[in-house]
Amino acid sequence: MTFASLGLAAPLLQALEALGYQTPTPIQTQAIPAVLAGRDLMAAAQTGTGKTAGFALPVLQRLSEGEKAGSNSIRALVLVPTRELAEQVHASCRQYGEHLSVSTYAAYGGVSINPQMMRLRRGVDLLVATPGRLLDLFRQNALKLKHVEVLVLDEADRMLDLGFAQELSTVFAALPKLRQTLLFSATFSEEIRSLAKGRLRDPLSIEVAPRNSTVKAIKQWAVPVDKKRKSELFLFMLKDRKWGQVLVFVKTKKGADELVARLQAKKIAADTIHGDRPQAARQRALDSFKAGEVQILVATDVAARGIDIDDLPQVVNFDLPIVAEDYIHRIGRTGRAGASGEAISLVCADEAPLLTAIETLLKQPLEREEEPGFEPEHRVPATAPGAKAKPKKPKAVGGRSGKSVPDNWVGFDAPAASKGRRSSGKPRGR
Ligand code: AMP
Repeated sequence: MTFASLGLAAPLLQALEALGYQTPTPIQTQAIPAVLAGRDLMAAAQTGTGKTAGFALPVLQRLSEGEKAGSNSIRALVLVPTRELAEQVHASCRQYGEHLSVSTYAAYGGVSINPQMMRLRRGVDLLVATPGRLLDLFRQNALKLKHVEVLVLDEADRMLDLGFAQELSTVFAALPKLRQTLLFSATFSEEIRSLAKGRLRDPLSIEVAPRNSTVKAIKQWAVPVDKKRKSELFLFMLKDRKWGQVLVFVKTKKGADELVARLQAKKIAADTIHGDRPQAARQRALDSFKAGEVQILVATDVAARGIDIDDLPQVVNFDLPIVAEDYIHRIGRTGRAGASGEAISLVCADEAPLLTAIETLLKQPLEREEEPGFEPEHRVPATAPGAKAKPKKPKAVGGRSGKSVPDNWVGFDAPAASKGRRSSGKPRGR
């Protein structure tokens, strides 16, 4: 199978060749001809499957064939849950569309809205945006949605997790009825199905396994430990097992900052990405990690979602995720492209319900291996995968209280949980 045989035009093939893409991935093989033919799509695919090129290539081709966007208009709208993903998807679109005359732009919260308004005046063929900022721009008449020909919802499940359901409904209501809609989601829950209901026309359903066909290539285990000794255990394992670069997931922004401070105190190059850090700082941290200058990147789920970090030998869950599905996203960062990987979860007694939820999702218990010298005083209770014990959600909190709250609950470009509404969209921390 070649990209040419899928019907892609020469300028795109040229870009793909320069990027070294030789064969289309399964999702690309299925999605590209369907999107070129104008069909709607419901695709179950995670990061790592090549889904971005799966929609970006045919959408760019379709855009290159029509008239350019008029003032304040956009022709294709790609909605994504996070700023990082917006940047990343936009960067891919620019690469793929290098030899096409299709204008692209990314708009997201956390940075000043004015340059975005200025840029939109000239019209943009393909806009990648987070839902909150898109609506801010729309409400301020910086962009019109009535000329949108294609809507892409990327990581739709995550957008719903972040509380963007209302924003998505508002966007749908403002879009023309006659349009192409492509929906990508890692999971297809009831909520996703109801979001799609009546909004997609005879969609082609595509389901592909992640490129790493996850679980098998990854050795996963849990290390029972007392909560207060987690940092000490992490430092011990890092040294004892001679780990190189590690991506570490924590639950809260505060927890991320604390761990990084402890690592830095030991002269370990560590940085963090979480929703309270300005976009530029997050991007810098990510770039330094990718360049190998930072050994330990500490991330919250929201900030890390969708970012393209490949082939890490170890991913550590310093805290278990509140949402069990995030476990799959987290560990997908290791063991990619056939490489073997390890996903280690440091689990304390309080986290037993979260562990149960993960094991239920995995349909198997996580093996437990105590680390000698770190045996917990508070035993982690036996888990019962399959039991319907949903972990309790923490109470909603005010964004700036400094309290330890999960990163997906406040701030960022996501809704303030306490109000059930999106945050102001104003730049944060600047
Ligand atoms: P995605 O699932 O869209 O996040 O893509 C994951 C990674 O795979 C990105 O780094 C892409 O550049 C890369 N990629 C996507 N399609 C191909 C392909 N056909 N051949 C090689 N690499 C690809």
